[in-house]
Amino acid sequence: MLRVGFIGWRGMVGSVLMQRMREENDFRGIEPAFFSTSNVGGAAPAEAQGEPLRDAANLKDLAACDVLISCQGGEYTTEIYTPLRKSGWSGYWIDAASTLRMSDDAVIILDAVNLPVIQKGLANGVRTYAGGNCTVSLMLMAAAGLFSAGLVEWMTTMTYQAASGAGAAKMLELVKQMGVLTDPVRKSPSENALEVDRLVIAAQRSRELPAAEFGAPLAGSLIPWIDKEMPGGQTKEEWKGMAETNKILGLDPSVPVDGICVRIGTMRCHSQGLCIKLKRDVPLREVEDLLAASNPWVRVIPNNKESSIRCLTPTAVSGTLNVPIGRLHKLNLGPEFFGAFTVGDQLLWGAAEPLRRMLGILREHLGA
Ligand code: NAP
Repeated sequence: MLRVGFIGWRGMVGSVLMQRMREENDFRGIEPAFFSTSNVGGAAPAEAQGEPLRDAANLKDLAACDVLISCQGGEYTTEIYTPLRKSGWSGYWIDAASTLRMSDDAVIILDAVNLPVIQKGLANGVRTYAGGNCTVSLMLMAAAGLFSAGLVEWMTTMTYQAASGAGAAKMLELVKQMGVLTDPVRKSPSENALEVDRLVIAAQRSRELPAAEFGAPLAGSLIPWIDKEMPGGQTKEEWKGMAETNKILGLDPSVPVDGICVRIGTMRCHSQGLCIKLKRDVPLREVEDLLAASNPWVRVIPNNKESSIRCLTPTAVSGTLNVPIGRLHKLNLGPEFFGAFTVGDQLLWGAAEPLRRMLGILREHLGA
């Protein structure tokens, strides 16, 4: 039986992965082992059948697994992956972190849009599979139909990214910030909007607001910076847009993708406003048909107020595998320019879902 090790199973991505694997009965027929960086010897999930948590730094224990799935983060991958490979381990490494994505030895997994790339990797003996950046994966789940048709000349993505995209601790901080913002209003109720506004702004700017994780107030606000600084004024999150889109789809020549990535005070789901420059003037109906036919999870939402506010929000999409794309219309910029808005659950298609599906593809490939 395939021994599959899980590292980072209690974080945001890891816990959604566990939930999805339980829902889909994915633990049947594998021997799971659970690792920890903070609670070695502690109680593991029920699937471990009494086996305690193993040390995520113990290369020998890790190497006893045929497959390792890491949702622990980039620092862990940087620390462990190379020594583990150098120790002679030749198992399959499936990772949510960005560390290995652009490596020539790794395939970025999003089988709903790039199954042939994954299958080619398996046939060529690739042993390292990395989930894509959440925003990139969700943009592709929504817009891959236009890329596959070879219609995209370039694209800009303006993102609205949820707190949970940065991990469990940051999500918890956002909720604490929400509490600090609403407390003074609850204590001194007022129907005077300007007075309420004054109380909320004072709370946002007070030292009482917990901001150690984000470094700034996020509740009732936004942060126009995600990840590290890159040369040329981009952030790393923005840099990934073009690099990963082209690698995931195996595009040659590459298609320019760029934009501004912004953290907003939502709990879950990343949203994106897209400006798509097509290579020619394509009728709206044809664009909608290409998008809708791309995969079973994309949903083309009619461009009207009722459908948009009902179907195209984080509240509507959180916890579902649907990836709606709407607000589709030609822009004033010219007949080849389309505007669109899309929302997806970054913990599902943006993170956990491609990992669990990769395990399934691998089991099929290995006959295990
Ligand atoms: P996370 O929630 O911060 O979890 C990572 C690890 O942090 C956990 O495995 C746990 O390790 C530890 N941890 C510390 N405080 C915790 C708490 N309060 N609750 C739970 N775990 C806590 O990180 P993540 O968001 O899952 O991200 C994991 C990797 O996936 C990262 O490389 C990230 O870039 C990538 N990713 C994330 C998303 C997303 O939407 N969040 C999307 C795509 C990719 P121990 O149990 O060993 O202590």
